[in-house]
Amino acid sequence: MGRPNSIGPPRILICVAGWVMGWGIAMRPEILNPLFAETEALKGVGASLSKPLTKLGLTRVVDLLFHLPTGLVERVPVEGLKMSDAGRTIIIELTPVDYKSGRSPRGPIRVHATDKGGDYVSLVYFGGNAGWVRKLLPLDEPKLISGKLESYGQELQIVHPDHVLALDEAASLPMREAVYPLSDGLTGKRMRQLAGMALERAPNLPEWIEPSLKAQRGWADWHDAIQAAHADPRDERARARLAYDEIFANQLALMLVRASSRKRRGRAIAGDGRLRDQLRLPYALTGAQRRVIGEIEGDLAQHVPMTRLVQGDVGSGKTMVALHALLAAVEAGFQGALLAPTEILARQHFATISAQVAGLPVNVAILTGRDKGRVRESTLMGLADGSIDILIGTHAIFQEAVSYKALGLVIVDEQHRFGVAQRMMLQAKAELPPHLLVMTATPIPRTLTLTHYGEMDVSRIDEMPPGRQTIRTSVMAHDRIPAVVDGLARHLSNGGQAYWVCPLVEENETSDRAAAEARFAALKARFGDRVGLVHGRMKGPEKDAVMDRFQRGEVAVLVATTVIEVGVDVPNATLIVIEEADRFGLAQLHQLRGRVGRGGGESNCLLIRSDAPLSETARARLALMRESNDGFRIAEEDLRLRGGGEVLGTRQSGEAGFRLANPDQVSALIQSATDDARLLVDRDGGLAGERGQAARVALYLFERDSAVSLLRSG
Ligand code: ADP
Ligand code: MG
Repeated sequence: MGRPNSIGPPRILICVAGWVMGWGIAMRPEILNPLFAETEALKGVGASLSKPLTKLGLTRVVDLLFHLPTGLVERVPVEGLKMSDAGRTIIIELTPVDYKSGRSPRGPIRVHATDKGGDYVSLVYFGGNAGWVRKLLPLDEPKLISGKLESYGQELQIVHPDHVLALDEAASLPMREAVYPLSDGLTGKRMRQLAGMALERAPNLPEWIEPSLKAQRGWADWHDAIQAAHADPRDERARARLAYDEIFANQLALMLVRASSRKRRGRAIAGDGRLRDQLRLPYALTGAQRRVIGEIEGDLAQHVPMTRLVQGDVGSGKTMVALHALLAAVEAGFQGALLAPTEILARQHFATISAQVAGLPVNVAILTGRDKGRVRESTLMGLADGSIDILIGTHAIFQEAVSYKALGLVIVDEQHRFGVAQRMMLQAKAELPPHLLVMTATPIPRTLTLTHYGEMDVSRIDEMPPGRQTIRTSVMAHDRIPAVVDGLARHLSNGGQAYWVCPLVEENETSDRAAAEARFAALKARFGDRVGLVHGRMKGPEKDAVMDRFQRGEVAVLVATTVIEVGVDVPNATLIVIEEADRFGLAQLHQLRGRVGRGGGESNCLLIRSDAPLSETARARLALMRESNDGFRIAEEDLRLRGGGEVLGTRQSGEAGFRLANPDQVSALIQSATDDARLLVDRDGGLAGERGQAARVALYLFERDSAVSLLRSG
């Protein structure tokens, strides 16, 4: 998922890195140094542990600190063995009475032991060494043993007792112990030791939380909170504080980006309307479109560069809003650039926009990774000498070789991965930073909007163009496919067009393609040349040719993988079939469904279930799709059903980089963290005061330090 949106140009990342380095990476506060030491610097951590630790991402002490336990073992001291205690972790006095090695030398070693009443239990060691076991558990010597009691047929056993102690060592055995997520080669005991060592290194940190908030929530100091969270995973209050810290650091970084970009002078763009007035649209703009265009014009007219997010559900008409903004820039003598996530979408925008401005003195060009040689050279020249007014393309438009004479406005369409780093880069790249508009149809729940775009102003296109019919969505079993194909035949004979979306098979392009090709062949056998195929592996020109034929109506059924997910606009296509719909995320289904319902006619979306039993969640998702056409409701629900899923095409928490805060905590705490961060930056933009200094520590602790460099430049 998200593959089609991936921005992926290493160039951009390098630019960002270079840019960050350019400002100089400010120094991490010394107090944090012990936490940023390598895990291997801890006592007893050698090569054998480094593999499992790396696998869990625990390469530094701070990673261990943030690797919080997920459960708790509670030991129950018992006098005698009881079948009814099976499943519990018990502490019991046992006396080994007999060793039994298995039939095969590789089998487990079993030690028979009895409790005080003479009842038996087997202590089982897999892969153990007999000599070691005999030494640990000498016959006839009572020991205090802790472990999880299990029933094995009629017998009781304890596999790998977690503690074997002499009777006088009882006091050293904790009644409760934290349970950590582990990986092969890392035992719970070792993990607890490592966490213990990391905790010993945890310093007392200065307080960055606003005092009244801290008091109101009853939160402890950071040091106590981290200790408490490791000691008992049920300590919600300690965890909430740690989650807040992380969210606060994220929001603070965004607010610093905002403050720094507000300080930069941009170019004020005041278009006189002479181009926009000549647009001949076949419809009137909706009120929402007009309002949002107005908001954008207001921003453009300022010297402060705009950073605005436009949210509008699929089909709400964002392209027209983009065109108005671009033309305003051109009227004022500037260039505008429109970045699309995929080649297909870039070509479509190019076609739409070129057609709209035909006859106007506006020169529109396209640049994608595919353009090479002479064509590319002349485009680059046109950009440099200013003869190109509007450039549309994929991320190629930001490559280093591309320089603009007077870039005034950048619009980023449907690019979920255009993260804060890229936005910072863009603001920093030009001498005078361009205005920035980000457009998204992924209806982002409010909490995500704040965590990802907290520094941006938000406009919503909350009204659909008139005359849109709602899309009728039905869910069908896999064995109904022949009937669906018959339905498709009727649809085509009435002059309709359709999409047929093939399942996403384990994020694997090759098998995606195989599925799509098989379906293509089957439909082609019935409908002949009216069937077209697009998938991600096709060569660009091939893809274009098929899309063009679909747009012109020569192809009536477009078989596709999710490459058509975003933006594609063919109003005459009023039927979409989505195979194995349960494999897709809700937000993605909503995007796909948004390919239809674009013209005046009634549209249908058929969601075909996989041939396997569905999970509760999958069932709930499909039911919601059937019930609702409201992208925002679907997005909120998606977030809830997945417990923080992939609304943005990446792991929800991954994108913002949250390690401690879970989605519920984010929802609960984001608003106060945002307000607090904004207030702090308003009052103490340089983070020079006492709380400001503490807040810097938080930025470094959560590795939002690139934001700190903004303080210096500011
Ligand atoms: P999205 O917001 O998903 O990018 P598009 O910009 O692709 O939506 O617009 C979807 C369709 O709606 C297009 O066919 C476009 O021509 C049409 N459209 C846009 N604005 C209006 C309007 N005000 N009235 C009627 N149709 C419109
Ligand atoms: Mg669009």
